[in-house]
Amino acid sequence: MDNKEEIRQRIEDEILKTEMQVTEYRELCKPDEPDCAIGRVSRMDAINNRSVTEASLRKAEEKLNTLNIVLAKIDDDDFGKCLRCGNEIPLGRILIRPESMHCVNCDRRI
Ligand SMILES: [Zn+2]
Repeated sequence: MDNKEEIRQRIEDEILKTEMQVTEYRELCKPDEPDCAIGRVSRMDAINNRSVTEASLRKAEEKLNTLNIVLAKIDDDDFGKCLRCGNEIPLGRILIRPESMHCVNCDRRI
């Protein structure tokens, strides 16, 4: 596959970015200090926000995991091919979403 270095660079950038997100989300998910001043409504808000943050954290962790797998496979012969149908994934798509190792068609069906 051509442009391997470009792709590697792109994936490494994305890994760094995602690692920072994970750290940030983990920070936000830390248990609150008990705070008597907080009202019932804002406590509900805090709980809602927390589940949103936890969902984002899980997503970011998953993405990071996938990116590492993709990076490890970059030297494989079949790198850049859709995991489902085996068609080549266009370079542009790999650069935009390196964590998705599926072509547009298969991605839609998953
Ligand atoms: Zn496919």
